[in-house]
Amino acid sequence: MSKTIPIVSAAEAATAAVTTAIDGDGMGCHAGGEKMLAAARASGKSEVLAQYAKDYPVSPAAGPHDQPQSMCPAFGALRVGLRMRRTATILSGSACCVYGLTFTSHFYGAKRSVGYVPFNSESLVTGKLFEDIRESVYNQADPAHYDAIVIINLCVPTASGVPLQLLPKDINGVRIIGIDVPGFGVPTHAEAKDVLAGAMLKYAREEIMAGPVQAPRTGRSDKPTITLLGEMFPADPVIIGRMLEPMGIAAGPVVPTREWRELYAALDCAAVAAIHPFYTASIREFEHAGRPIVGSAPVGHDGTEAWLQAIGTVANVPQAKIDMVKNTMLPAIKGGLARMPIKGRITLSGYEGSELLVARLLVESGADLRYVGTACPRTPWSQSDCEWLESHGVHVQYRASLEQDLAAMHEWQPDLAIGTTPVVQAAKELSIPSLYFTNLISARPLMGPAGAGSLAQVINGAIANKSRFAEMKAFFGEAGTGASAGVWESAQGVPQDRPEFKAETRRLLEKQTKKRKAEAMI
Ligand code: SF4
Repeated sequence: MSKTIPIVSAAEAATAAVTTAIDGDGMGCHAGGEKMLAAARASGKSEVLAQYAKDYPVSPAAGPHDQPQSMCPAFGALRVGLRMRRTATILSGSACCVYGLTFTSHFYGAKRSVGYVPFNSESLVTGKLFEDIRESVYNQADPAHYDAIVIINLCVPTASGVPLQLLPKDINGVRIIGIDVPGFGVPTHAEAKDVLAGAMLKYAREEIMAGPVQAPRTGRSDKPTITLLGEMFPADPVIIGRMLEPMGIAAGPVVPTREWRELYAALDCAAVAAIHPFYTASIREFEHAGRPIVGSAPVGHDGTEAWLQAIGTVANVPQAKIDMVKNTMLPAIKGGLARMPIKGRITLSGYEGSELLVARLLVESGADLRYVGTACPRTPWSQSDCEWLESHGVHVQYRASLEQDLAAMHEWQPDLAIGTTPVVQAAKELSIPSLYFTNLISARPLMGPAGAGSLAQVINGAIANKSRFAEMKAFFGEAGTGASAGVWESAQGVPQDRPEFKAETRRLLEKQTKKRKAEAMI
């Protein structure tokens, strides 16, 4: 393994030609980004794709599953819809995509049905699919049950130009939100959350401009509020609220919101805290509403100090009050970090968008953190986190690929690898303790005094397991690796690797591809 991490700068990565396209696969999931983008543009989706290219920059050549190598991005938008009260969510896409998405939603505890409008080649090309979608939306639009219906175009309907924008904006008082979330235009499920949150904020902002709207169910806050951008651990908004209270301000709603009328309250704020920095479309809506945006988050001592100052300044809080809060919170955070130190070398990667915040907390807890990779892009709202980490010797990789995350792990030989499922699997094969970022790290409080020390127990526990990995490796030997994975009796024969079969298959596939190309030229 190379001792140099093949790290590609964000600018270079944007032009690198990577693709998982399969020649001759038609206009399906493996057609590749260029083909699908071209088809989508030709069918009237240029404007929305141009906006996505600006909001969520990636290599223009990358296909649905190239960027990053993770689950279907549309899951992010689906999840936001499924978590909202009185909101129905309908998918329009290939059955295999919809199967995967509904499976994942229910795996993650969705308690709602996912609507689906099926199609075949005929209904797709004749425009009947759009009529079917329109019919299903009319059938569902019952104001007694719903405030809003969300329809999500997946890859194939987007590439085919199914015109959700032609749906009525409102049916019987139920808002209709049609969005395109193709994997070849929206790279991560994190950013797909922004596509829907941004579309809803836009709709709600236009409603506010048109006249009076519903107040929040709990009434309007009597203090100026700070809207919190990004799905976070449920205790975090409460902790943030406690830190803001002595400054005379309150924590506002968390966006993505859990019900429609919270959108109005979110827009009715003094400022927006972009806790997760990738909500580009949502931030655009807040900026249209004249709301100032503050990046980073109150994590660790330095992060909390800077964040309280920035929020206090933007909300016109007198400096004496800001200092008073700092004087209470910062020693408590320092004490918490010192009581629960983290000892060991760590590499960290994920696709949630909170990776840089977790990284800051790890460094302040004493961890020897060498690398943080995030599948999300660089934005102004994580700039201070990036600079802080780099000044503490951490390599920050935006739009990190799996290969980069793995190379970092091989390079630094950490005591613990925190990462996505394939990184964790690769680490375990090497007897390196590892933790899955989404379930085990991002599902913990990170903010203010509650965040200080909250990661230490799980991380130190995992690092302490190193010797168990070595014991297991010694016990199992080569069982469970390569072609002979599993337990075999030699009497029945142990499976042997047959590289010559693989080479022959590859040769036949290459021959077939050449033949197809030659035929296409005739
Ligand atoms: S909709 Fe999702 S699962 Fe289907 S091809 Fe696109 S990215 Fe893949």
